[in-house]
Amino acid sequence: MKLQNYINGEYVDPIEGRFLDNMDPSTGRVYGQIPDSGPEDVEQAVQAARKAFPAWSGLSATERSRILLRVSQGIEDQLESLAQAESKDNGKPVKLARTVDIPRARDNFAFYATAILHDASETHDMGSAGFNYTLRRPIGVAGCISPWNLPLYLFTWKIAPALAAGNTVVAKPSEVTPATAFLLSRICMEAGLPPGVLNIVHGTGPRVGEALVAHPDVPLISFTGGTATGARIAAQAAPLFKKLSLELGGKNPTLLFADGDFEAMLSTTVRSSFANQGQICLCGSRILVERSLYPRFIEAFVQRTKALRVGSPLEEATQIGAVVSESHMEKVLGYIALAQEEGGVIACGGKRVVLSGEQSGGYYLEPTVITGLPMQCRTNQEEIFGPVVTVMPFDTEEEALSLANSTRYGLSATVWTSHLTRAHRMAAALEVGIVWVNCWLVRDLRTPFGGVKSSGIGREGGFEALRFFTEPKNVCISL
Ligand code: NDP
Repeated sequence: MKLQNYINGEYVDPIEGRFLDNMDPSTGRVYGQIPDSGPEDVEQAVQAARKAFPAWSGLSATERSRILLRVSQGIEDQLESLAQAESKDNGKPVKLARTVDIPRARDNFAFYATAILHDASETHDMGSAGFNYTLRRPIGVAGCISPWNLPLYLFTWKIAPALAAGNTVVAKPSEVTPATAFLLSRICMEAGLPPGVLNIVHGTGPRVGEALVAHPDVPLISFTGGTATGARIAAQAAPLFKKLSLELGGKNPTLLFADGDFEAMLSTTVRSSFANQGQICLCGSRILVERSLYPRFIEAFVQRTKALRVGSPLEEATQIGAVVSESHMEKVLGYIALAQEEGGVIACGGKRVVLSGEQSGGYYLEPTVITGLPMQCRTNQEEIFGPVVTVMPFDTEEEALSLANSTRYGLSATVWTSHLTRAHRMAAALEVGIVWVNCWLVRDLRTPFGGVKSSGIGREGGFEALRFFTEPKNVCISL
């Protein structure tokens, strides 16, 4: 399949006519081509978005809502083909794409299409002096840049609120996983989204991403990706005074106290460690276990991990598919080697898996559990973003907290305990943007989402995203 950009409501080839190979990580083979767009394509997309802005922002919330609900319905109607495309692009089990990623993309549009119908801005009564109200208006062209791990889910998590709030958008999906963004453009055409309201430019970060961040007519940037890329974007955007939302990396702790429900924490921790091959920014990669529980937990955890089925993403029984690319596989294997150099013991996994037949060239890794490492080593401090976790014991609640908070990251944490006040104490003291107590990855879409420290700035989700994608204007009326 040869993909095209979606600019001004039409499919177009990149101006320079350059294309990149699109790899299927489950086989290691090329299966399509994507535009290797450049700054001129970004320029065209930005101009189309600028042109579309007055009419789109001038629609009533009800009119925008109707169109965006049709996009949501279009995703629902195409659910199976989107799930297949996402699995082929990314290597994730198709079952996961079908039950999590694609339904969530549909829900993102439905949520924001209806949120704008219920949003309100503030009015402050100043008595005889008058009153003060806040107008919240869309800003203009939003630049949305997303990563490869949850391709359509994170792409729509930005685009839906930006459009709902009345902005127009130029979006860049990851070059590694472009297929579902391409299919979304067809859905938008069929839903009657006016030309230029959403523009999708495919290509690399250095050519397309940077041109978008640097563009003077793009006043706001919403980015999800790695911390190093986020720092570069922040440096580029700061002198241009752009509004920025950065959702970055994580090194999330999972804290297991001996009074937690053993079976629930064991099965959920297997999932929170290895779902999507560990390539979810919210996966727990450092498991901290109360010492009295440690021997029982590690034995059961290793046993469950070994039983996970690594296989072709298309097979329904597969639990661990392929990691996203060869270079990412090499990076993860490099970290496993580093962990051993740092004194870590591989309790299970640690190697590449070579499947038979068509999948023999695919990028499969054994889910890996490492013990015996100190918290300050690189393995425990740097984001690996693969099916690799470390496990270590702790003695006291204070020690658990200090270990959990000891990295530069602050995205999420999970706490397992049946001690009510401890749960609240830990939730308050953990330096992260989201804490799960006795669960994982459960979240109401109305809540703000984001990290602290090197995991990002700003909050997405809920009405926070509508705040990000609008500018407040203060109006004071004297009576
Ligand atoms: P990257 O930072 O490499 O890339 C993210 C996106 O940015 C891609 O579309 C990429 O393009 C683009 N990009 C790269 N360089 C630039 C640049 N200089 N200017 C503008 N855009 C650029 O992240 P990954 O795609 O590798 O995704 C994995 C990372 O994302 C992990 O660190 C993970 O933790 C994080 N993440 C964070 C989440 C959160 O909510 N906090 C959620 C999900 C993931 P391309 O790759 O096409 O070249």
